[in-house]
Formats: sequence, structure tokens, C-alpha cells
Amino acid sequence: MTNQPDTNKIIRQHAEMAEFFSGGVLPKVEPKNIKELEVIAEEARKCQKCELGKLRTNAVPGEGNPAARIMFVGEGPGADEDAQGRPFVGRAGQLLDKIIKACGLKRQDVWIGNIIKCRPPDNRDPRPEEVVACIPYLQRQIELINPEIIVALGAHAAKTLLDTPKAIGQLRGIFQEYIPGIGHKPIKLMPTFHPAYLLRNYSDDNRRKVWEDMKKVLTELNLPVP
Ligand code: URA
Repeated sequence: MTNQPDTNKIIRQHAEMAEFFSGGVLPKVEPKNIKELEVIAEEARKCQKCELGKLRTNAVPGEGNPAARIMFVGEGPGADEDAQGRPFVGRAGQLLDKIIKACGLKRQDVWIGNIIKCRPPDNRDPRPEEVVACIPYLQRQIELINPEIIVALGAHAAKTLLDTPKAIGQLRGIFQEYIPGIGHKPIKLMPTFHPAYLLRNYSDDNRRKVWEDMKKVLTELNLPVP
């Protein structure tokens, strides 16, 4: 049995409330975009373009503010995400929540998703053909949300979105450019360590590096650095 909360409805209500209380500071959300994002989510939930479609409990299309200024992109769902159909809800997700809170933001202010929408078995890395089959969903989500900054969480997200073989240690902390497609302006992309990596390597140095990366993101958006 699948377990899919009506996250799109919740997100839409949050976005409307946030916009109302911020006196319209948030970019206006075009109803068309909200609808299109729902269409993409529904396509991902029914997708059978690779074998992961047969293995999943729930697809994890991604969720958040359709007018988000920041999009966080991870690798792919783990067991908790597969069970709930929502991104970053396990241990790594709890750490991501703390990072978002430390930035003075709430989960509903940002958008959170992944390179691939279905869980690879035994937490293996996504295969190239799975990424090729799945990436158009994320590309369309990025085009619709059109964030000011994408935060790529970990090597897999950074390398895929930047189409580079460079290591995350080399990429992180420096703004890069994601090219959404012909005719679209590049979007600034900040690579940083994946929260799961941070949990496995929970040193002061690694935590400081992620916080430095996030401070650059906040400064770039003219948001207060707490
Ligand atoms: N790790 C990811 O990359 N994505 C999730 O949604 C959860 C854990």
C-alpha cells in the first residue's frame, strides 16, 4: 500500500500563508507553475522508465515552496524517504532541517529534492542509466521554480548538475553555475557536503565548512546571517 500525503496541498497553503504574512516579499507564485509542479510529481510517482520504478514503495518527487529562492538537491531517496514519499526525512534529513533552521529559514521556505526520485536498493549509488532516465524531472522542476541558488548536497548532486568529474572537496565553497538549458540564465550553484557524509564525518572542521558554504548562500541572497 502506498502512503502519499497530499504534500502539494500543504506546500501550496504554506506558500500562500508565507506570501500573505511577508506582505508579498516572496516572488509571486504563478498558479500555472504550481499545477505544472504537481503534474511532474504525478509523472514521477507513475514512472517506470528504469527498474527502480518496480522496486520503490513511493517515489519521492521533492517538495517545498514553488517560489523558493533556494533549492536543495540531494542524491536520491533512502529507506525513510521511500517509506514516506518525502525527501530528507531520515537522519540526514534531520541534519538538513538543522542546517536550514541555522540559516534562519524553515523547510517550507525552500524546495528540497533529489537527482533521482526512487530509492536504489541497498542504498547503492544510482546507475548512470537511472540518472539519465530521471534527471529530466529535476530539470523541469528547476526551470519552473527558477531559484536564485541551488545547493547541491554532496558529490553526486554536484557532479551531475555541473557535469564535472571534480571531487566535492574541490568544488565545495565556491559558487558554480548550473545551466538550465538554451535561452535560460545560468543559476548559481553552491556545492557542499551531503548531510549523510557530515553525519559519518562529524568533525568541527566539516561542520564549519558546511556553515561557511551556507553563509555564502545567505550573503548572496542578501539574507541576514544569524
Ligand atoms: N539522502 C538523499 O540524498 N536524499 C534524500 O532524500 C535522503 C537522503
